[in-house]
Amino acid sequence: MSPATDPLALLHEVFGYAQFRGHQQAIVDHVIAGGDALVLMPTGGGKSLCYQVPAIARHRAGQGVAVVVSPLIALMHDQVGALEEAGVHAAFLNSTLDAAGAQAVERELLSGRLVMLYAAPERITNPRFLAMLDSLHERGRLSLVAIDEAHCVSQWGHDFREEYLQLGQLADRYPGVPRIALTATADEHTRADILDRLQLGQARAFVSSFDRPNIRYAIVEKDNARAQLLRFLRDEHEGDAGIVYCQSRRKVEETAEWLVAEGISALPYHAGLDADVRRRHQDRFLREEGLVMVATVAFGMGIDKPDVRFVAHLDLPKNIEGYYQETGRAGRDGEPADAWMTYGLADVVNQRRMIDESTAADDFKRLQIGKLEALLALAESLDCRRQRLLAYFGEDISGAGQGGGGRWRCGNCDNCLNPPQRWDATEAARKALSCVYRFWQHSGIGYGAGHLIDVLRGKSTDKTRERGHEQLSTFGIGADLSEAQWRGVVRQLIALGHLASEGEYNTLALTDSARAVLRGEVKIELREPREPAPRTRSSRSR
Ligand code: ADP
Ligand code: ZN
Repeated sequence: MSPATDPLALLHEVFGYAQFRGHQQAIVDHVIAGGDALVLMPTGGGKSLCYQVPAIARHRAGQGVAVVVSPLIALMHDQVGALEEAGVHAAFLNSTLDAAGAQAVERELLSGRLVMLYAAPERITNPRFLAMLDSLHERGRLSLVAIDEAHCVSQWGHDFREEYLQLGQLADRYPGVPRIALTATADEHTRADILDRLQLGQARAFVSSFDRPNIRYAIVEKDNARAQLLRFLRDEHEGDAGIVYCQSRRKVEETAEWLVAEGISALPYHAGLDADVRRRHQDRFLREEGLVMVATVAFGMGIDKPDVRFVAHLDLPKNIEGYYQETGRAGRDGEPADAWMTYGLADVVNQRRMIDESTAADDFKRLQIGKLEALLALAESLDCRRQRLLAYFGEDISGAGQGGGGRWRCGNCDNCLNPPQRWDATEAARKALSCVYRFWQHSGIGYGAGHLIDVLRGKSTDKTRERGHEQLSTFGIGADLSEAQWRGVVRQLIALGHLASEGEYNTLALTDSARAVLRGEVKIELREPREPAPRTRSSRSR
């Protein structure tokens, strides 16, 4: 009896799954038939089967070996192990093999017995390796090329790999061999880069929804972050497992200690801890119930715990990709889960400064600033968070078309559930900017946000007296607004790039775009700061 080449039969026989998910079937059919494909699917969506099933089907049809390019060594090892266990002959070539090991793999490759070969991207720059692929191709024994983590070809992405640029040449070198590129990160920039640099202009794109409908998004203004976190944990997530992300190792440790002192089972995790400790904490998090992991971004890659009920951010992530990835670790089981973040003026200032002070090239900095601005826009947004988040990845869930009306509601984010009050801050923004201008004019130096707000509100302090700032025409022109409102104005002006926060003292300075705001050409709308809700108002309190 000839072995099955029908994809569904193969799925049952080799993988033991009942049916394909989402776009899998369409992708598999397309690639088996020899088409190129671009696959966009969120993490956990099932990308691997999209090339594994075609690889097996084409091998059984006598079309030879599939080459899978992947930058993740651990993933290669796992997948090869699992495939071999399922009776599919697979191997990998990467830096972990010694010469003898590599030679053994090469023999298998050339023999035609191998179904799938996982290769690190640098292999593609290796002439010896290419000569082997040439030879396979000449004999019609190169069945397909899969390029995993395809976003690595883009500098816009966060993990650009030089070697990925070489993958484009495979298009000309191996005509007729279907290529499939897969990624979980693809905003519009990245997607365009993938199509262009991998020469996938003819590829059919299969775009899965990135929506995680069971995750409830909330971004709250930072007031007293610890108290806010504690209220969130006690009111909404008593006894639940979750992750609290902090930016620095020190903050991770302090926060974990403090949570334990508050009676919450919490463990720290960051790259500065001993490997032993990290492993132990990770194991406990996976096995025990209701543990809170306080962690830096070092925690989470490859963690597959289905019942993480919340992900909290005490600090701003680097960009929207990071936010999506980190919050995506909540609710893998499909049950309701929370993505909760506190965010304030200091976060904006810090993130800006980290970029400005980094030694990266200017165009890279500009990229990072662009990404930070997109994240800040999400944090400051008055509209549906989910819609904004998905729009960033090029997905329109409102059904209103590109740029369609801002008032579509997902019904499961803070802004949809409890629409914020808006106020027109255009005039306030002009006042703040002209006050910053006066500082420079009067003193020849800039001042920080705290002092600016004092002057605007006409609050007399040692500093306002000493610097003679009580004589400025802008002293007290904003007495009608609260301090929280002013913080919102300044935060928004920095987020929008009209104000720059510079140097060791975070002094504020006008940017070129400030002029348009001063002239009243830019309308600025802000959310009304909310008083922290009293505990008794919580929806889920007993
Ligand atoms: P990704 O690479 O997109 O993050 P994986 O390929 O690792 O996702 O798949 C995620 C999980 O879903 C794996 O455990 C995989 O076995 C499982 N899976 C994928 N497709 C199916 C399917 N059709 N039926 C059942 N389980 C599936
Ligand atoms: Zn919403």
